[in-house]
Amino acid sequence: MMLPDGVERDYPLARLTTVRTGGTAELFARPDEERKLAALLGWAASEGLAVAVVGSGSNLLVSDAGYRGLVVKLDGQLSGIERQGTRVVCGGGARLPSAAAQAARWGLSGLEFGINIPGTVGGAVKMNANAYGGELGRVLEWVNVCTAGGVERREPSQLGFAYRRSNLQPGEVVSRGSFRLSEGEVAEIKGTLAEMRGKRRDAQPSGIKTFGSTFKNPADDRRAEGRTAGQLLEAAGCRELRIGGARFSEKHANFVENAGGATTADILALMAEGRRRVHARFGISLEPEVQVLGEIEWPDTWDLPG
Ligand SMILES: Cc1cc2nc3c(=O)[nH]c(=O)nc-3n(C[C@H](O)[C@H](O)[C@H](O)COP(=O)(O)OP(=O)(O)OC[C@H]3O[C@@H](n4cnc5c(N)ncnc54)[C@H](O)[C@@H]3O)c2cc1C
Repeated sequence: MMLPDGVERDYPLARLTTVRTGGTAELFARPDEERKLAALLGWAASEGLAVAVVGSGSNLLVSDAGYRGLVVKLDGQLSGIERQGTRVVCGGGARLPSAAAQAARWGLSGLEFGINIPGTVGGAVKMNANAYGGELGRVLEWVNVCTAGGVERREPSQLGFAYRRSNLQPGEVVSRGSFRLSEGEVAEIKGTLAEMRGKRRDAQPSGIKTFGSTFKNPADDRRAEGRTAGQLLEAAGCRELRIGGARFSEKHANFVENAGGATTADILALMAEGRRRVHARFGISLEPEVQVLGEIEWPDTWDLPG
């Protein structure tokens, strides 16, 4: 197969994720303009290749066997942040904490929630990321979604936002997004950011290799009695439980940590054991929040009795 300019073979993906596990992408590219991204997706479709996108890899678990197909990571213009009046228009690959900090310097309020979400605009839209009640959908005005067929603009009402999900399909890449913000005092907005960072430092481990929340909090379930996934895992004795190089964090039981030399298989085994223990104790089946890239094999213990 003849590869277009900039497409590489056997690209290691672990370093593009915050947990640092997993294999290689069969093919990999860093498109830096919408036009080039659309052309690349068109080429992949014509070759019958599956396509996946990596943002900051902050909620991503890559199979140890890697990914068969084309993985893209947005670069250049597609990770830029610009001001248009009271709007901030970002590339899908722009980092949300950078966009939040830049908006604060411009005296624009509404993106503060992004300061603690270590993902990109595209990843945040895909995951409907959220923190401390700040709603992505409230400030998001539109996104450009790029596919093999070209670029299409969508509004939040068309994105099917629900708890940690959207209706974006594999192969649909968020290439740009516009946030409609309001004018505020620079000092006040920066103060809010500092406060939010402080709160986060107290609540979550820092400086560890993790993909954030492993499991979603259970939907309104009487058996959960309002408890979060982290609280259920902790009550089921999972804090600091370790399999291979993977363990549930000491500070936050819903965070899996690569404590050194972990493989994705270690993490899957740990997740299965955590889920089994919560089910045995509370009868609740936790569902993963973390997104998987490539073919994975859950251990047999993933299937719960009953
Ligand atoms: C320490 C820590 C704290 C966290 N705190 C929070 C939090 O408070 N709230 C919260 O909601 N999440 C949190 N997360 C999880 C994570 O940051 C979010 O889910 C984030 O939105 C993921 O963005 P990403 O760019 O890293 O996406 P990735 O992890 O790279 O990918 C996640 C999914 O999004 C898709 N995707 C990525 N980019 C695009 C794109 N441009 N177009 C289409 N699909 C795309 C991927 O294909 C994949 O399916 C935390 C993670 C960590 C490590």
